[in-house]
Amino acid sequence: MGARTVSEAIVLRAVDYGEADRVVTLLGREVGKVSAIARGARRSRKRFGGALELFGAGQAVLAPRRGELWVLESFDARRGFPHLALDVAKVAHGAYLCELSRELQPEHEPDPRIYGLLEEALGLLDAGEARPSLLRAFELQLLDALGLAPSLARCVGCGAEVAPGEGELFDVRRGGLVCAACAGGAASVAPTARLLSGGARAALVAALEAPLAEARAVEWGAHAGPARDLLQALLAEHLPRPLRSVDFIAKLRHG
Ligand SMILES: [Zn+2]
Repeated sequence: MGARTVSEAIVLRAVDYGEADRVVTLLGREVGKVSAIARGARRSRKRFGGALELFGAGQAVLAPRRGELWVLESFDARRGFPHLALDVAKVAHGAYLCELSRELQPEHEPDPRIYGLLEEALGLLDAGEARPSLLRAFELQLLDALGLAPSLARCVGCGAEVAPGEGELFDVRRGGLVCAACAGGAASVAPTARLLSGGARAALVAALEAPLAEARAVEWGAHAGPARDLLQALLAEHLPRPLRSVDFIAKLRHG
């Protein structure tokens, strides 16, 4: 106890606490997801540089204490995502990336791949326009990093390879494709199963496997809506509660 921990970190959430403090949820490369209190954060711009906002990125110095919260001693904002806040669609997409990272991950389980994914995704969003294809690739690759990737090649029932075709059943509860033999007759198809078109399946595989920068450029066309809905249903199986940023993005889409 008592030793300080230094970690590169991204601010996933920041809320005011009491008269002068802020409580932040950080994703740290070296510490994983942690919640910390920044005492006097709203008075001391010296220690925190005004960076304790959503999308803040830099070097965090943390001191452990008994209980849930760490103490954030300082936060040196070395790199940020300065263009995110300038565009409402980028804010919505960035908030979604952060909220998904926060809600899907357990505390204190550092994973450099997940940290790298979020850092890269926010960087791509910062540098370019807000594109749903980046969100789809991030969802799939985050699930993969957590060991929750959907089974897009093999049947979740029997493990047999499901040949690409015009459409297959995908059971969101079981997390993957179900072959014709395992699906049985139409009467026995699980209510959580839905039809996944061959084109949407191929797009999902590409988004799961391609580097984020390439996956972001993919045009989903007619598969965009069905793939988004399928991934939302799949994520709902793993999330403790609905994400607020999903409503924000839906409002932008329809507004
Ligand atoms: Zn099967």
